[in-house]
Amino acid sequence: MSYNPWLVALSVALAALDAYVAFSVVGRIARSRGPVAVLWTTFGALAMGSGVWAMHFIGMLALRVPVPLGYDSQDTALSSVPVMLATGATLWLLARRATHAGAMAAGVILGLGMISMHCLGVRALHMQPPVIWQAPWMAASLGLGLAGSTASIWLHSLIWRSDRSHRWWLRVLVALLLGGTAAGVHYLGMGGMRFAPGAVSLQAGVGLQGLGLGLAVSLVSGLLLLLTLGVSLAHRQLQRHTEAIARELGQARDALSWLAYHDELTALPNRANVLDLLDRLLPLAKNEQFEVAVMFVDLDGFKSINDTLGHDVGDEFLRSVADALRASVRSRDTVARFGGDEFVVVLERFRSEANLASICRKILSLVSRPVAVSGHSVSATPSIGVAVFPRDGEDAASLLRHADLAMYTAKEQGKAGYCFYQPRMSELARDRLLLSAELREALQREEVVVHYQPKVDLASRRVVGLEALVRWPHPARGLLLPKVFVPLAESSGLIGQLGQVVLRQVARQLAQWRARGLPLVPVAINVSLQEIQDGHFVAGLLGTLREFGLHHSLIEFEITESAAMKNAEHTLRQLRQLEALGFRMAIDDFGTGFSSLSHLRQLPTQSIKIDQSFVQGASRNPADRDITEAIIALARKLRLSTIAEGIETHAQADWLQEAGCEIGQGYLFVRPLPPEAVPAHLLRSATQPAASDAASG
Ligand code: C2E
Ligand code: CA
Ligand code: CA
Repeated sequence: MSYNPWLVALSVALAALDAYVAFSVVGRIARSRGPVAVLWTTFGALAMGSGVWAMHFIGMLALRVPVPLGYDSQDTALSSVPVMLATGATLWLLARRATHAGAMAAGVILGLGMISMHCLGVRALHMQPPVIWQAPWMAASLGLGLAGSTASIWLHSLIWRSDRSHRWWLRVLVALLLGGTAAGVHYLGMGGMRFAPGAVSLQAGVGLQGLGLGLAVSLVSGLLLLLTLGVSLAHRQLQRHTEAIARELGQARDALSWLAYHDELTALPNRANVLDLLDRLLPLAKNEQFEVAVMFVDLDGFKSINDTLGHDVGDEFLRSVADALRASVRSRDTVARFGGDEFVVVLERFRSEANLASICRKILSLVSRPVAVSGHSVSATPSIGVAVFPRDGEDAASLLRHADLAMYTAKEQGKAGYCFYQPRMSELARDRLLLSAELREALQREEVVVHYQPKVDLASRRVVGLEALVRWPHPARGLLLPKVFVPLAESSGLIGQLGQVVLRQVARQLAQWRARGLPLVPVAINVSLQEIQDGHFVAGLLGTLREFGLHHSLIEFEITESAAMKNAEHTLRQLRQLEALGFRMAIDDFGTGFSSLSHLRQLPTQSIKIDQSFVQGASRNPADRDITEAIIALARKLRLSTIAEGIETHAQADWLQEAGCEIGQGYLFVRPLPPEAVPAHLLRSATQPAASDAASG
């Protein structure tokens, strides 16, 4: 009995290739679910089983014995069944249970499958008398089958735990081991096979036989294996691709969910995040009886930073505010940005109200510090409102609303400060809401009225102009002064409409007085920054003047210093446009807006109105007196005329005139007058002899 060495080599190679392919299929099965996994298992079992079987069959054909042999085709085919079932089970076990016990079980099943295939395969010879099996050989074959498959499968289970660069070599090693085992099982089994003397194969001449058949079987089996390998590789590519896409999708989803809960600019939590946090925190606080404080922090005048220095500087500044806020509180407190210049701080388990107040002061000092942003020193003060759970609100929404209200109150009380929420703030807010609704209607019906306060030449005491001051005769509250409703109009978007109503009333009034032949003087109208910034302001103004046939010299404007200083290029452009059209302009409340001289020079203004606080403070406070005199001297240098407002005493009037101020206004001369009282004043002023004439006469 001898073997064809080429066929033997071919059979071993086939077995190794087979094992290699089979293990690559294991990965596919492991990564698949449901029917796909079953499909891969079947596919793998077919390929690997047929490979082992082909190896065995070729090994049989390689056998050269003196008697002619043939194989029963049915039995031969049947011999492939146990090995296919065994490989299927092995693959499944390996893929699903990468434990040592799983590997052992798989190894045993595979070993048994190989042995039974071998016995069935030999049976297909239909030897007469039957083959005699020699126990030691068969035991060795069985032992090798069990040990070899178990070892290679155990080794294989290490592949997944080894690092990537070694995997390919390990896989080749395992494949060679398993291939060798399969071949060993077969050849040991063949070694244990003895033909009885005179034995013949009943299939000789009828069954399968010959070298050509062996080659054909190996070819088909090899092709099947290569096909499996190809599909497996393609599938792996596809799966990698899918995994990459899934990973990217996952990352995108993470980024999205991060964005949904964070502010992109500062990376702080956002409103949704704080609402979530409070929803979780408040029930806990209720149970464990601790307090939670919500602080609303809003920057004063941030808009002008954005307007004057640009959004990049504004953004950078907001980031530094975020840092300052974080530095003001403990790390477990939450600092969030709600958008714009609105920040919210949530503090839990603080010691006392005094503790909260000191945190507010810390925020005030840290946030107010000027920071250098692209060459500019930028600063803004914060206004802070505080609401405390459970005292000021039971849920997130009311806490935030009340903290916001308290912040609003802090702004009203002069900004750069903090306020704790009080229930009366809610009443005030309701009140404001009601009043702004009423104002809207009053404006539609043009129910506001304009009073006029004369401006007099300090030397001659003649009326040189009028200032239009708006009043609102409220049906229930009486005559309301502008300080009650102008800020309300500004904050509720009604200021533009208010300005138009005032302008029309003034224009109509001037046209009437002119028709009555009165000596007209220019009327100064107070305008808010928002009105000026509205793109339709100038067109509306010109339209009204045309409608009433008035010359532009009859209308002047007063804009407060602080408004004029928020000189977004846009504001300046509008002011210059007014100047170009010939309108005169005065800077109101001068001395309170911290304007620099260079700014003042840029403004297209002809006069400045010294704020009444200086005029009235001068008698008590020498510093106010000095400032006022300096302002007058400065104005003269810049060739601007000065108007002093709020003059109530002769002493004030005399001192101002001496200091060089030209025009005065105040209760000393005339209080603001209702329209019907104005003509008498105009006439008296026009006909009275000048004060200086009277003195000399
Ligand atoms: P303002 O432009 O500084 O107006 C001067 C304020 O001082 C007026 O208050 C006037 O009545 C008051 N006043 C005049 N003489 C004296 C005095 O001798 N002593 C004292 N203590 N006060 C004096 P009023 O009418 O309440 O106006 C307040 C502010 O409302 C004005 O300040 C102005 O900024 C604003 N305002 C008035 N009318 C309008 C308007 O039509 N549009 C806009 N946007 N603002 C207006
Ligand atoms: Ca004014
Ligand atoms: Ca003023």
